[in-house]
Amino acid sequence: MVNRPLDPISIRIAAVQERFQRLTERRLYYYNLPVSELRGGSRVVVGGREMGMYASYSYLGLLGHPRIAAAAKKAVDQFGTGTHGVRLLAGTLTLHRELEAAIAAFKETEDAVTFSSGYVTNLAIISTLLGRRDVVIGDKLNHASIVDGCLQSGAKFWRFRHNDTRDLERLLRRAPRSASKLVAVDAVFSMDGDIIDLPAVVSLCRRYGAWLMVDEAHSLGVLGQHGHGIEEHFGLRDAIDLKMGTFSKAIPSVGGYVAGRKDLISYLRHSARPYIFSAALPPPQAAAAKEALALITEEPERVERLHQNSGLFLSGLKSEGFDTMFSQTAIVPILCGEDDRAFEMTRACHELGMFVLPVVSPAVPEGSARLRATVTAAHEPAEIERAVELLARAGRSVGVLR
Ligand SMILES: *Cc1c(COP(=O)(O)O)cnc(C)c1O
Repeated sequence: MVNRPLDPISIRIAAVQERFQRLTERRLYYYNLPVSELRGGSRVVVGGREMGMYASYSYLGLLGHPRIAAAAKKAVDQFGTGTHGVRLLAGTLTLHRELEAAIAAFKETEDAVTFSSGYVTNLAIISTLLGRRDVVIGDKLNHASIVDGCLQSGAKFWRFRHNDTRDLERLLRRAPRSASKLVAVDAVFSMDGDIIDLPAVVSLCRRYGAWLMVDEAHSLGVLGQHGHGIEEHFGLRDAIDLKMGTFSKAIPSVGGYVAGRKDLISYLRHSARPYIFSAALPPPQAAAAKEALALITEEPERVERLHQNSGLFLSGLKSEGFDTMFSQTAIVPILCGEDDRAFEMTRACHELGMFVLPVVSPAVPEGSARLRATVTAAHEPAEIERAVELLARAGRSVGVLR
C-alpha cells in the first residue's frame, strides 16, 4: 500500500476515523448496528437481544408481511433474481408495467415510472428536466437526494427558508421570465416530521408558472385517510406535476417512482440517464411493492392505526416535557442539543432496550442534535406508552429532561 499521510483524501479519512473511534471508545457509537431478526413489526433482535424498534420507516408495519413475502418469492420463481438489463432495452418485465399502473392508480395520475431507488429517482427527475438556463427552488430542509439532483442539473439552484412561502415567493419573483422554474419540496421533512404547506406552495407555483415536484418518501402510506399522500391530506387533486416517492419506507421493498402526466413520464423513460443506463428493479422487489400497494388499499385501517399511534407518541412525549419541534407525523424528533447529549441519550435508550438513533451535525444544524424516533402501525398502544416512559427515564438520566 502506498502511504500518503498528508494528502487531503488521507486527512479526510483520518478525521472521520478519529471521530468515530472516539465515540466507540466512549461507548457512544450506535450506527450500522446489524439487526439479525424481525420479531413482528415492532421488535427486532440486535446483538442477540430483543429490542423495541423505534427507528423503522416501515410505517404501516408491512415489513415481513406474509403476503408480500409470498409475492416476492413467486416473482423469483417466475422471472429469476434479476432482469435482462436496463429498462429501455431488455430489462422491462410485465411486472414493472403492472407496478407502474398500480402506482399511477394509487396516485391518481395518467402514468408512472420506476427507478432503482428513491435517491436515484430524485437525481433522475431534476437533472433530466432542468438545464443550465433553468431555475430550481427548494426548501432549505429538503432531502439530500433532491439537493444532489438540483446540483447535478446545472440549473440555478436557490433555497427558501424552511416552509416559508413568503420567502419562496420572493425567489419566484426573482427568476427570469424566460427560464423554466421547478419548485421541489419534501411532503414530510425527514429530520423534523413536519408537513409542507402544500396549498400555499401550489397556488404560488400556479401564479408564477412554475412546475411542482413533491417527494412523498414519508407521505405515501402515511398522510391522508387512506394513505394516498399529501394531496389527500389537504383535500387537493391534480395539484402536483411530479409526485415522487419510494418503495423503501411504508412500502417494504426498494426502488423509487415518479407519477404524473403521460407525456412527462414518457419523456423521462426516453431521457433519464438512470433509466437508460442502470439496471431495472429486480423482480421480487417490484412484486413486493405491488403487493404492498394492494394491501394498503385493502386495509386502510393500518393508516388509521398509524395516525393514532403517532398522536399517542407525540402527546406522550410532549407531556413529559420533551421538545418534539414541529412534528405532526410518525417521524418524531426529540431535541437533545449538543451532539454528545444526543449520543448519550441514544446509549441510555439502548440500555433500556429501545432501538432508536441520533441525528447530529452536519445532517442537522449544530446545537439541534436529536433522537429521531418513529412509531408505526405495528406498535401496540401499550408499547408506545412504555416507550414514552423509558424515553423520559433516559432523558432525565442524561439531562435532556430536568
Ligand atoms: C429515504 C428518502 C429518499 C431516498 O429513498 P431511497 O428509496 O431510500 O433511496 C428520498 N427522499 C426522502 C425525503 C427520503 O426520506
